[in-house]
Amino acid sequence: MVLATLGVMAMVWALGGRLRWPRALVWSGMALVYVAAAVFDVTLAEGNLAAWALIGGFAACVGLYSAALSRLKARAEPEVAAKPQGTFREAELERYARHIVLRELGGAGQKKLKGAKVLVIGAGGLGSPVLMYLAAAGVGTIGVIDDDTVDNSNLQRQVIHRDDMIGLPKVQSACEAMLALNPYVEVRPYQRRLTAELAESLFAEYDVILDGTDNFETRYLSNAAAVAQGKPLISGALAQWEGQLSVFHPAVSGPCYQCVFPEAPEAGLAPSCAAAGVVAPLPGVIGTMMALEAVKLLTGAGHVTRGELLIYDGLYGESRKIKLAPRKDCPICQKG
Ligand code: ZN
Repeated sequence: MVLATLGVMAMVWALGGRLRWPRALVWSGMALVYVAAAVFDVTLAEGNLAAWALIGGFAACVGLYSAALSRLKARAEPEVAAKPQGTFREAELERYARHIVLRELGGAGQKKLKGAKVLVIGAGGLGSPVLMYLAAAGVGTIGVIDDDTVDNSNLQRQVIHRDDMIGLPKVQSACEAMLALNPYVEVRPYQRRLTAELAESLFAEYDVILDGTDNFETRYLSNAAAVAQGKPLISGALAQWEGQLSVFHPAVSGPCYQCVFPEAPEAGLAPSCAAAGVVAPLPGVIGTMMALEAVKLLTGAGHVTRGELLIYDGLYGESRKIKLAPRKDCPICQKG
């Protein structure tokens, strides 16, 4: 009798799967079959009540345990503690509708994005898609620091800037473009070069730092400041046809930037975009992936590229990942 019941329950399970029933309906159907069979067996066929109760109780425990586990998993806190903020206006709900229907984001995730503060270093090739997508995604406060002005030769890849902005500060051009795209976000332009002192005070105001600069001095100092404050640093780099990115957050796990690149290469060995060239869509690919890592960090969705370096070769359309480990003698993240 028990075996026959299990057989019918398995059929309900298979049928539910094929017809794409909701999980709750399948479980309810199986429970109904079980209870009906138990009642029939015990009352009419003088079956053993204790055996039915034992099997039923065990199954219920397993079910409850797995439901609790998946609920805990779904509620896993993101490693960045951005406070979910405020209420949304009607136009915002409509604007973010494609986020809100995503199971991994939903209304709760959108609130976390709205409450988040993200700082982007550099409004150039990588900064352009990063800033546009952070604004589009509804990240509540976006800071951008850059001391440069828009140049004609930038416009081949720095798509946040327009031809009529040539000669104007990049942060001004970038902030105007972000607000034109999404007036519901706050933008903060800092038209200056990042220094160690400035990094210390500025990083404290933000939840996540994105580094899209092309000079090693700024990369090392932003890494040191991010590690000192326990903030995640999303770092991207480009050369000609190839780009790479990683999330450095040794406070959680994995190495910092300096563990992976202990020393700046000799001048001339790592030529800048100006000297070596860079293909127009490549910053778009890597910068967009950086923005995606930020969305995941802020909402707790999925798995961030921490402890890994993602390398994309645009010339051959190939990507690969390399595992990264902290260096025991790193002077930045292994202190004390
Ligand atoms: Zn390190």
